Order: sequence, then structure tokens, then C-alpha cells
Amino acid sequence: MAELLNGKELAKEIRQKLKEKVEKEQLTPNLAVILCGNNEASKVYVRNKSKACDEVGIKFKEYLLPNETKQEELLELIDKLNQDESVDGILLQSPIPKGLNIQEAFARISPEKDVDGFNPYNVGKLTIGEDGFIPCTPYGIMKIFEKYKIDLEGKKAAIVGRSNIVGKPMAQCLLSHNATVTICHSKTKDLKQELKDADVIVAAVGKRNIIKADMVKEGVVVIDVGMNRNDEGKLCGDVDFENVSKKASYITPVPGGVGPMTIAMLMNNVVKAHLMKGTK
Ligand code: NAP
Repeated sequence: MAELLNGKELAKEIRQKLKEKVEKEQLTPNLAVILCGNNEASKVYVRNKSKACDEVGIKFKEYLLPNETKQEELLELIDKLNQDESVDGILLQSPIPKGLNIQEAFARISPEKDVDGFNPYNVGKLTIGEDGFIPCTPYGIMKIFEKYKIDLEGKKAAIVGRSNIVGKPMAQCLLSHNATVTICHSKTKDLKQELKDADVIVAAVGKRNIIKADMVKEGVVVIDVGMNRNDEGKLCGDVDFENVSKKASYITPVPGGVGPMTIAMLMNNVVKAHLMKGTK
């Protein structure tokens, strides 16, 4: 039976350390969050980020834009926040309404305030192995590996999903720790074949039970990023947890695994942005 990778506990530890740092050094970090449109799930995510900010001592301000927002209006708000010296971090909650160009908006966020790490400048930094902002979900997963002393060097890692926010930056993080990385996606011909020898699997698809026990080897480390609902409406991941956990050596639960780590690393990035401002 696999050992649980307790992201909830680790996230709590990280938030506590950040809180102590903020208090001791009398820091005044500040996060601006743009919520554009009426996505109910986004509202919940933003509320959770706001709660974490409160806990750590980060000032949080939410900017609500209606569904009918025009691209220029969104860019204008980003420009305003870029120029506002009291703002350390800017986060544009995705998804945004159809018709708006999220890549253009991410690119407009000043790289020093890009706490989600989605600006092409920070994407490039991650790719060439320079210090910048690492997207919070892969960053949180790397912290889980570190905490549980899971050595990645020379390991076969398979990522399922190639989104810009999870799959691709995850591949860069694993590569930088000397894993041999395979990235699978919806056009992958035989997922089971790609996963069967993997020492580490990161599932980031958004489809319940897509990773089954007969696809993985004994002793595999499984990271489940997926956030889905089961028939009873309960939160669940992409992995058939009940059966895969019998074969895995380590596994993240959903909830209580990757989700809380994503928010903790956002807090970390906002404090980092604040400290960077002080050094300019
Ligand atoms: P996304 O942008 O929708 O990407 C999903 C990826 O899965 C795509 O690359 C897609 O391939 C691939 N895929 C779809 N069907 C597949 C299949 N049958 N076999 C293999 N690959 C398949 O999603 P995302 O934003 O990365 O999020 C993924 C999941 O993680 C969602 O459930 C999301 O809610 C969750 N999430 C959780 C956190 C957290 O903090 N816990 C953070 C972010 C996201 P193509 O590229 O070919 O379409």
C-alpha cells in the first residue's frame, strides 16, 4: 500500500514559514487578482487564494471584470497594476471569457509581477534553467518530491497532459532534476504502453480514473493533479486511487495533495516578488 504524499500538511508548513518571515521582516507583500467573467469554480479558487493570503499576511485585492469585458479593457487594467508600485504580484485567474486572448494578457503582466509564471519571459527562464517564477502547480509538486526525498535523477517520468500551466512546465522541472521525461496527451496512441515502465507519473488531464492500476508498475510514484467530480459530486482526481494506491510506493490524494501546494507556492511567489522589488 502506497504512502500518502500529504500536500495539505506540507502546504500548511510552507504557509506558516512564510507568515513568520512576513512578520519577522515586517514585509508588506501585496497580490492583485483579476477575475474576469462568471466562472463559479474560479470564484472558489480565488476565495481560497484570498484566505491563504490572509493567513500569511499578504494584502489581497480582487478586481472583478464582467463577462462582456473587451480585450483592451483587460490589458488596461493589467497596465494599471503593472504601474502600481504597491502591487507585487498580479494573477489573472483562468479561464477568462471566450473571445478574450489569455496569452496576450499573460504576456502583458510585467515579468517581475508574474507570480503565476505564465509570461513568456518566465516560461523562457524556466526552460533555460534560470531563476524566475515557476508556475505554482509544478513548483508545488517539486516541493513534494523534495519533502519526501523522492530522487528523480535518472528516473523515467511520464506526464499525462501538456497544458501550458501544468504539463509543459512540469516537464521542464523534472528535466532540470535529471529525470528522463515523456509527455503524453490526447493524441498519444497507447497511453498504457507509455506509462508501464514509468517510475514517476504526473496525471494532469481532468478525466476521472484515466490512470488505472493495470497501466502502472509496482512501486511507481503517482502525482494526481486532476480535479474532477465523481457521481456523488465529491472531488476526485485523474487516478483510480483505490486500485493504483495498492501498487504505488507513494501517491497524492485528491483532495489534500497537489491542490493546497499550488496555493502555498503562489504565496511563496508573491513574497518572492515583494523581496525582489526591494532589491531593485
Ligand atoms: P487542460 O489544459 O485541459 O489540459 C489537459 C491535457 O490532458 C491536454 O494536454 C490534453 O491533451 C490531455 N488529455 C486529454 N485527454 C487525454 C487522454 N485521453 N489521454 C491523454 N491525455 C489527454 O487541463 P489543465 O489546465 O492542465 O488541468 C488538468 C487537470 O488538472 C484539470 O482537472 C484541472 O482542474 C486540474 N488542475 C489542478 C490544479 C491543482 O492545483 N490541483 C491546478 C491546475 C489544474 P491535448 O493537449 O492533446 O488536448
